[in-house]
Amino acid sequence: LKKKARSWSKQAAPVKQSAVLGAGIMGGGVAYQSASTGTPILMKDIRDEALELGINTASGLLDKQIEKGRLTEEAKQAVLGGIQPTLSYDDFSNVDIVVEAVVENPAVKASVLAEVEKSVPATAVLASNTSTISINQLAESVSRPEQFCGMHFFNPVHLMPLVEVIRGSQTSDETIARTVAYASAMGKTPIVVNDCPGFLVNRILFPYFNAFNRLLLDGVDFERIDRVMEGFGWPMGPAYLADVVGIDTLVHADHVMQEGFPVRMGHDGDVIAAALLDAKHLGQKNGKGFYEYG
Ligand code: NAD
Repeated sequence: LKKKARSWSKQAAPVKQSAVLGAGIMGGGVAYQSASTGTPILMKDIRDEALELGINTASGLLDKQIEKGRLTEEAKQAVLGGIQPTLSYDDFSNVDIVVEAVVENPAVKASVLAEVEKSVPATAVLASNTSTISINQLAESVSRPEQFCGMHFFNPVHLMPLVEVIRGSQTSDETIARTVAYASAMGKTPIVVNDCPGFLVNRILFPYFNAFNRLLLDGVDFERIDRVMEGFGWPMGPAYLADVVGIDTLVHADHVMQEGFPVRMGHDGDVIAAALLDAKHLGQKNGKGFYEYG
C-alpha cells in the first residue's frame, strides 16, 4: 500500500497553501503539522476560543521542541506565522487543499463542505477527516465529487504517522495523488483505501476491542488485560487505548462497525463501554474512563 501511495504522489501538483476547517483536537493538530513541515495553512473555526486553543496547542508543542534544544524561538515564530487563524472564508481563494475537521455530525459536515467549495479555486481538493461517516455519503454535498476524498489522521496528529486517504466511488486519481502528496509532505505515511465502514484501521481495531469486551464479560480485570498486551510489546493495552480514543467516540464507532458488518462485527454488545458512557466516564478527555486521570 505504501509503495502504491508513493507512486500516486509523484503525479501530483504540489500543495502550496492549505486550509483546515475546525480548530479542535484534530484541526489544531493538522494546522501544527502542516505549518511545521513548511505548508502554510488557514485554520478556520466558528469560535474565537477554539482558534485561540488551536494556536496555544501548536505553541505548546513548539515550546517542547525549544526545551529539547531542537528549535529556536525564531523558528517557532516562523512556524506559528504559517498558521493563519480565521473565522471567515475570505482568504480561501488560493487554497490547494482543504481538510475538513469539524464535529462528527453528517449534517454539519455536509453544510460546511458545500459552503467552503464556493470559496476555493475550482481545482482545489476537499478532504474530510471523518472517522466514521461514509465518504460517498459526504460526496453528495459537493458539486465536484471527483475532487473529494477522505484524509483520516489519527490522534495525536503530530505523533501518529499513518494517514488513511479514502477513495470514494467518484474520487479522481488526481485528487488521490494530491492528497497523498500533501500527507507525505507533512511527514506522514499515507495509505490509499476504498470507502467502507471503518476504512482500514478500524476494521482491524474493532475486532480487537470486541475480544477485549468479551474478556471483560468473562470477568477478566481490564488492568490485567492491559498489562498482558504491554508485555506482548504493544505501547498500551485496550482499556488505556479506549480512554485515549474517548469512550463516546469508541461507542459511536462500534455502532457504525456493527451496522456496516453485522455478521463479522456483531457481538454481545459493548456493554462495559456503554455503562462507562452512561456514567459520563468519557476517558482522558474528562479525567475518567476505565482509569482515573489526575
Ligand atoms: P473537536 O470537537 O475537538 O473539534 C471540532 C471543532 O470544529 C470545534 O473547534 C468546533 O468549534 C469546530 N466547528 C464546529 N462547527 C464548525 C463549522 N461550521 N465551521 C468550522 N468549525 C466548526 O473534534 P475533533 O476530535 O477534533 O474531531 C474532528 C473530526 O476529526 C471529527 O470528524 C472526528 O471524527 C475526526 N477524528 C477525531 C479523532 C480524535 O481522536 N479526536 C481522530 C480521528 C478523526
